[in-house]
Amino acid sequence: MKKIFLTILLSPMLFANAKQPDLVKYVNTLQGTNSSFELTRGNTYPTTALPFAMHTWTPQTGRNGDGWKYQYQKDSIRSFQQAHQCSSWTNDYCVFSLMPVTGSLFVDQFKRAAKFSHENEIAKPNYYKVTLDNRISAEISPVERGAHLRFSFPKGAGSYVVLDGYTGFSSVKVLPQESKLVGYVHNGRGLTKNFKNYFVIQFDKPIRSYGTWVNKSGEKYDGETEREGNGVGAWLKFDNGVKVQAKVASSYISPEQAELNLKNELGQFNSLEETRKAAWEIWNKHLSRILVEGGTEEEIATFYSCYFRASLFSRKFYEVDANGNPHYFSPYDGNVHQGYLYTDTGFWDTFRAQFPLNALMHPTMHGRYVAGLLDAYDQCGWLPSWSFPGEGGSMIGNHAISLLADAWAKGIRTFDPEKALKAYAHEAMDKGPWGPANGRDGWREYFALGYVPYPKYREATAKTLEYAYDDFCGYKLADMTGNSFYKGVFSRQMFNYKNLFDPQVGFMRGRDEKGSWTPKFDPYEWGGPFTEGNAWHYLWSVFHDVNGLIDLLGGKEKFVAKLDSVFTVPNTVHVGTYGRKIHEMTEMEVAQTGQYAHGNQPIQHMIYLYNYAGTPWKAQERVREMMTKLYNSSENGYPGDEDQGQTSSWYVLSAMGFYSVCPGTDEYVMGSPVFRKTTITLENGKQFVIEAGKNSQQNVYIQSAKLNGKNYSKNYIRYQDIINGGTLNLEMSDQPNKARGVSSENFPYSVTELKASDVY
Ligand code: CA
Repeated sequence: MKKIFLTILLSPMLFANAKQPDLVKYVNTLQGTNSSFELTRGNTYPTTALPFAMHTWTPQTGRNGDGWKYQYQKDSIRSFQQAHQCSSWTNDYCVFSLMPVTGSLFVDQFKRAAKFSHENEIAKPNYYKVTLDNRISAEISPVERGAHLRFSFPKGAGSYVVLDGYTGFSSVKVLPQESKLVGYVHNGRGLTKNFKNYFVIQFDKPIRSYGTWVNKSGEKYDGETEREGNGVGAWLKFDNGVKVQAKVASSYISPEQAELNLKNELGQFNSLEETRKAAWEIWNKHLSRILVEGGTEEEIATFYSCYFRASLFSRKFYEVDANGNPHYFSPYDGNVHQGYLYTDTGFWDTFRAQFPLNALMHPTMHGRYVAGLLDAYDQCGWLPSWSFPGEGGSMIGNHAISLLADAWAKGIRTFDPEKALKAYAHEAMDKGPWGPANGRDGWREYFALGYVPYPKYREATAKTLEYAYDDFCGYKLADMTGNSFYKGVFSRQMFNYKNLFDPQVGFMRGRDEKGSWTPKFDPYEWGGPFTEGNAWHYLWSVFHDVNGLIDLLGGKEKFVAKLDSVFTVPNTVHVGTYGRKIHEMTEMEVAQTGQYAHGNQPIQHMIYLYNYAGTPWKAQERVREMMTKLYNSSENGYPGDEDQGQTSSWYVLSAMGFYSVCPGTDEYVMGSPVFRKTTITLENGKQFVIEAGKNSQQNVYIQSAKLNGKNYSKNYIRYQDIINGGTLNLEMSDQPNKARGVSSENFPYSVTELKASDVY
């Protein structure tokens, strides 16, 4: 009796129910900010925002227009800005900023900058605070389409707030009687002409004097209330030593909608503390959807920092009208439409894990996302591949079909599959105007020859591999929806990866139009027929047919040996057609993981492939090693570009114990969870619990597994098994169990069967 009583008393669930744990405190929004052009630790900025919010806020250490908007190593801040950046490489759009200035008024971004140190900085999702060396403190708490800011000035000196209209066209209007600023900005690449970010900034203290100014000349126009032009801003003077709050909201639709966003989202909050508390509650509820227990404090901090970052993309691009209905300004056609739209993501990165994580945690949102993809197709004539905020067509592949097929495979059916297949067929059989991944570069040759020839097309082998996977997704969606026509079309193409495997060298390779291999093969050479990688990285880009790849490599033993060699060969870099070291190369060298270049996307799924060849313990061992070695919660927390939540999602899924190797199927392939207990609360209210008793940094191997009390020998877990709720019990050990998950019926999905010689 006594023992039972104690067990109940000590149950963590009881404590969790008694008081909601504070998970927000574990998030460090500075994770990954110690980055530069030469070497990336994430290329993130300290994002102050709500989950998937339209606008985010950050302190700015870099020049206006610099993609490195906040770098941990810098020592001064020049403004607090509204931002939408995906990565330092994409830069930003529709930015404006505010900066408090004390003493004499300086409007220029270099002269107004103030020194700071990280000891005087708090960086949380719901609250950012810095006390600058000049004793001004600045605080920010977010709402979805704006923020609540507060500037506290030292006593006795001038107290100014400068609005900076940034790098493009802007328009400002000071309303001194109302203590208000309104206007709009238009900056960023590829925006339609009528694309404006209308802002409204409401202060809670009287404006004593004011003026406008111009960024380029630094010229001030004292007493002027209105101005427009390139980089136009405004300045306001408040009482000396004031503590002034600013409620800021903005809209892509209209000035009226900006006012409505301000009223709807900030109207109820009288003080920044109230906004901060509301934002804490939203984040804590969001983060507690995945409750991890039984790890070190650092592991928990890393997990929630990554989960935070994974929860910023894609961004809501819709706003809520006066009747409570969603509508949006479309970056694709420049018109306002009813419904939902999300943006700011590059599918080349995010089809891999970020969307599969969203599909698991936020199926309603994912359903809206994929429906919005087809609306974008109606509006611009193409499925997007890199939305920022309109179609940029960056990188390679036609991965919208991956999102669509993945949604359908997981029961998220918010779109017409025939329309989706038609849109994909159009994308796969034509080349669009915006960038290499808008439509299909080399599509004629791809269909005629079965591969994209090199050097006729840049990065042709990488393109072929990803097109073949995309065609599999087209085949899969057609198959699931009984569309025999498109099933026939795409099933013919999905094995095209085989055409670029050269058995002589044992790698994927460039091939010209006549069928000859690109001469002087060097697996350590980056670029050429590959995208941001080399032959060691792209060999594995056969997400849908790992059995076919095993066959090409000469059977399971040779396949496993090749996987092993990725980690044991030297981390040699030959710069190839890049002609210089790009940061991804340096990151692979620094990581000391052989050719396992985890800092970039192409190889991120590779470790999980051990599960397809009967050596799941090797995946378990390696995935734990990489999570420990390559991630932490600090400013150095990522092994390379974070990239719109993708690399964070790799960590979040991997830390839960599984990963989405082949989106478009309903399987998540198993690795080794970090925590002794992970409780996933699904959108439907059910819970899926992963219990891994005895788990530790030594006990990384799965001895045995039980799903809902029954022995479970598979090397993957199905989406429905998670969504339906239940318990996965894992017995962990410091020794691999070489008898579990070794026979073919336990292997994850592959479009072809294993060869008879490889069936166990
Ligand atoms: Ca990348």
